[in-house]
Amino acid sequence: MEEFQSVRGFHDLLGEEAKRFRYVSELIREKLRVYNFEEIVLPVVEYLEVFQRSIGEATDIVQKEMFSFEDRKGRRLALRPEGTAGAVRAYVQNRLYALKPYVKLFYEGPMFRYERPQAGRYRQFHQIGAEVFGTMDPLADAELINLVHEILLEMGIDVTIEVNSIGCKVCRPAHRDALIEYLSGVEGHLCDVCIDRRDKNPLRVLDCKVPTCKEAVKEAPKMLDFLCHECREHYSKLKEHLTNLSIPYRENPNLVRGLDYYTKTVFEAVSNELGITVIAGGRYDYLVEEMGGPPTPAVGFAVGIERLSMLLRSEPKEDPLYFLIPFGEVLDYALTLAKTLRSEGRRVEVSYRKGGLKKQLELANRLKADYAIIVGEEEKLGNFYTIKDLKTGQQIRVQPSPSL
Ligand code: ATP
Ligand code: MG
Repeated sequence: MEEFQSVRGFHDLLGEEAKRFRYVSELIREKLRVYNFEEIVLPVVEYLEVFQRSIGEATDIVQKEMFSFEDRKGRRLALRPEGTAGAVRAYVQNRLYALKPYVKLFYEGPMFRYERPQAGRYRQFHQIGAEVFGTMDPLADAELINLVHEILLEMGIDVTIEVNSIGCKVCRPAHRDALIEYLSGVEGHLCDVCIDRRDKNPLRVLDCKVPTCKEAVKEAPKMLDFLCHECREHYSKLKEHLTNLSIPYRENPNLVRGLDYYTKTVFEAVSNELGITVIAGGRYDYLVEEMGGPPTPAVGFAVGIERLSMLLRSEPKEDPLYFLIPFGEVLDYALTLAKTLRSEGRRVEVSYRKGGLKKQLELANRLKADYAIIVGEEEKLGNFYTIKDLKTGQQIRVQPSPSL
């Protein structure tokens, strides 16, 4: 029979990879908990327009990376390529702005982008994202960056945190004009995509990965030189907070993001080892209003879980595994013992194979057990069990319950 393969860009996560993935996810969720973010479980499918409107028509995601389709009734839907659009849609639809002066939400789940698969780039990948709705205060931006910094520090991942401000409605137009003019001057050095971007979305040219484009934009007019008073204040307060929080950061005046909704603060955590971005975020002060809600400033970030897992150097530590071997007519006793040990939180595997001690111990080793628990007639009668440390070979008798 024909054997099936998974779809290109879609992966099974198994073994150590799955463990690292779960470890990263849990570490971040714990961090979000102590920062008092509340979880929102969002749908994977939204109306295509939710993404077109928020992420922006002229972005890579909307132009070429979307998994969009029509349902049976001809409605245009899409698998979500990111989480913020859906979070904003939910915030507005559920009138979350009416509940609290500001709202801190996080989401976790698969995202879908039709990209060329390569290391650290998949068509289904996973993100955890956090969003703060309802405050202009740069303290919110700083706390998010601090949270990101703490996550990376705890994971032992060596990154540089890059920050920039890309301004607001007031100050962006002047920069845009200057940038378009500058880009026209260096047009000969730009790739075709960037020539096309120049008039539609000139900021995106600053983010192009093509070396000639990178070189060509080095001297481009910087948004920082165009910031209005409010944006400048916001940015300098943010930097002040970052300094007070002892967060090392680098200002990157060419940092922009691949989504149109950002304003003022943008930031990225870039791996020093691989040069890839693992966490990215920023402020989006107009998006809620553009999605039909009341004017509500907001700021957030998203973590690529696979990318972070890739950078994890040490294996996450696991609890010891106990391999329980029943000998003879003792299954009732053995299963009660397994139940007790498991209720104490221990990881217990009951042997599903028959065989002599040698064979069973071999099995224990192959299952990577740390201890074998041996239960025979004698153990049952005396209400104890024998535990063997599989590393040292040392064996002792134990009464059930008190810790092993
Ligand atoms: P890139 O510039 O690498 O394409 P992006 O700007 O498209 O990233 P965001 O939309 O900001 O990325 O998503 C935030 C994070 O999600 C990224 O920093 C990355 O860690 C992760 N990510 C984005 N796209 C993918 C993908 N195709 N596969 C795996 N992880 C991804
Ligand atoms: Mg991308």
